[in-house]
Amino acid sequence: MPSAYDATPDDVATLLDGEPAYRVRQVWDGLYRRGLRPAEMTELPAPLRRHLDDLLPAALTEVARRTSDGGTTTKWLWELDGGGRVESVLMRYGGRVTLCVSSQAGCAMACSFCATGQAGFDRNLTAGEIVEQVVVARRAALPDRLSNVVFMGMGEPLANFDRVWAAVGTIHDALGLSARHLTISTVGVVPGILRLATEALPVTLAVSLHAGNDALRDRLVPLNRRYPLARLIDACHRYVEASGRRMSFEWALIDGVNDRPSDAAELAALARPLRAHVNLIPLNSTPGYPVRGTPPARVRDFARLVGDLGVRATVRVTRGADIDAACGQLAASVVQTGEAPSGEGQTGGAGPARRGEVGAPVRSRPRVGASTR
Ligand code: SAH
Repeated sequence: MPSAYDATPDDVATLLDGEPAYRVRQVWDGLYRRGLRPAEMTELPAPLRRHLDDLLPAALTEVARRTSDGGTTTKWLWELDGGGRVESVLMRYGGRVTLCVSSQAGCAMACSFCATGQAGFDRNLTAGEIVEQVVVARRAALPDRLSNVVFMGMGEPLANFDRVWAAVGTIHDALGLSARHLTISTVGVVPGILRLATEALPVTLAVSLHAGNDALRDRLVPLNRRYPLARLIDACHRYVEASGRRMSFEWALIDGVNDRPSDAAELAALARPLRAHVNLIPLNSTPGYPVRGTPPARVRDFARLVGDLGVRATVRVTRGADIDAACGQLAASVVQTGEAPSGEGQTGGAGPARRGEVGAPVRSRPRVGASTR
């Protein structure tokens, strides 16, 4: 199994065959409630700790960890089994502690402006690899309580539906986050949205819209050619009706591309009937798409226009720009600069550095990501 968090309670019981029955609860509690590696579970006999540490592995090896924004933003770059790399970003603000997780190594959606899309697809993460990101960050956030998880890191969550949904179940059931505090962000995988509408947990849906007409959206988000706006918006209506939840649209503001008054009008016309909230994000520049983000004054104008058209819009604060925290950027910058697996790092906090080396100090520099919410 790639991660200890891919093990079911039955798997753990099997590993503990011959031990007293209460050990299963002890190990499960250690993994989920306390976020421990088996080697740290000092209530277990030492030989059992060592045995379990091999059989319930850590899937994520920390390559880099960076902190910015006065310590309120932390970004990890992880290496997976097989060498793929993913990121997670922890953000604390306004009483909320939000983790942005990756669901795939790379991404096949090829959005023109996205660093992850420019790098291409590597592989799906397992449910355990997703949950492990949450467990590690939750421990690092202490004494604050992790309150929100957003699937806005690397990858398209609805292109890895089964594993993402299994991870959502675990984050809800075993880690105790409520459905409304879990957000799945999609570029517009219509069958995935329709399937979400049939599931019992009413998570928050975010759709990365970025354009309100098919000609422009085809260019920014190639998946639009397969699932054009009419079908996407219809699926959004179905999700909102089925879940009873408000949804949101993401809109990366790109200078001279999707920040004109006509774009604001198109956006408002789609968002208003859905009563959707709009998150405006000034574009982070990426090497493969050298257009600028909309300058701050025009971002405010755009937000005002959308607001005047009856839609609630907020400008997302960009966080972690100095640590490449935007989607795919840490991975890209570590590759480009050939940075060694060290840096100005931090050591404390969470998690397994490397399989078997629990708590080893690891260093890095972060970037943040995708998200800034
Ligand atoms: N694939 C999913 C989730 C990952 S991307 C999705 O597309 O929603 C998370 C968000 O970051 C998306 O809204 C995406 O469009 C946005 N994003 C990607 N690259 C960006 C960039 N360079 N600047 C600003 N936002 C970006």
